[in-house]
Amino acid sequence: MTEQAVTDQVVENPKVALVTGGSRGIGRAVVARLAEAGYDIGFCYRSDDAAAALAEKDVHAHGRRVLSRRVDVADRAQVREFVAEVEERLGPVSAAVTSAGITRDKPLVLMEEDEWDAVLRTNLDGTYAVCRSVIFPMIKRQGGSVVTLSSIAGVAGNAGQTNYSASKAGIIGFTRSLAKEAGRYGIRANTVAPGFIDTDMTSELDDKTVKLMRGRIPLKRFGTPRDVADAVAFLVSDAAAYVTGTVLQVDGGIEL
Ligand code: NAP
Repeated sequence: MTEQAVTDQVVENPKVALVTGGSRGIGRAVVARLAEAGYDIGFCYRSDDAAAALAEKDVHAHGRRVLSRRVDVADRAQVREFVAEVEERLGPVSAAVTSAGITRDKPLVLMEEDEWDAVLRTNLDGTYAVCRSVIFPMIKRQGGSVVTLSSIAGVAGNAGQTNYSASKAGIIGFTRSLAKEAGRYGIRANTVAPGFIDTDMTSELDDKTVKLMRGRIPLKRFGTPRDVADAVAFLVSDAAAYVTGTVLQVDGGIEL
């Protein structure tokens, strides 16, 4: 190997992924899956330290480095600090995955302002804050990949979820626009829109709804967090080098 080649190797972007909501559910599966794919991981969560510790263990099991922080994605200053710390401690972020999200389901006629605000601020503003913070360094380095988490509710709408569906539809428009403006810098931006996935978020559904929804899914089961994480791993990988601006539905074929 020549001296130049050695230098290039050191300068080369290492695989560093930043994942929001990485302590539980889909985010935790993404953290583990990307660690398996060779990424060092910086992830954030809102408050559950015990869950975060388990997610950290998953990363260590794959021999990768991990940094986790309590960060409210709705707080732009906290997000900026977190992204800067991940870049400083782990290296340039080559993949950003925005999985932090919440629901506050209610028919619109009963929906309080704080229920609307909380969902839009966490899901949509949080996605903006993270992407806004990673995009300039990615432009400077002429490369990177962003995967946002939408939902089939953002594609098709869902009764009782006007706030959530609006936030998730917004994420699709946001991501497609980002793909169009950042493609020239070698940056790809894609959305994954899961259907019903077995996580704490869907554990709140009553038995009747679960049965009804399962009946509408051609594959006749809820998805696993790993099903979604595999799609994310594909989208950030070189195997998806020519894929940008897409909405990849991971939903067992459900019709809402
Ligand atoms: P989950 O099991 O409820 O986990 C949510 C994660 O987000 C947790 O790590 C949580 O941290 C974190 N989080 C919540 N609010 C946050 C905030 N303000 N700042 C930072 N982190 C925050 O959710 P999930 O089911 O995995 O969903 C993950 C994503 O997929 C969400 O965007 C969701 O909308 C989307 N999605 C899920 C489904 C599904 O069926 N599960 C379907 C479609 C789309 P703490 O535990 O510390 O609060």
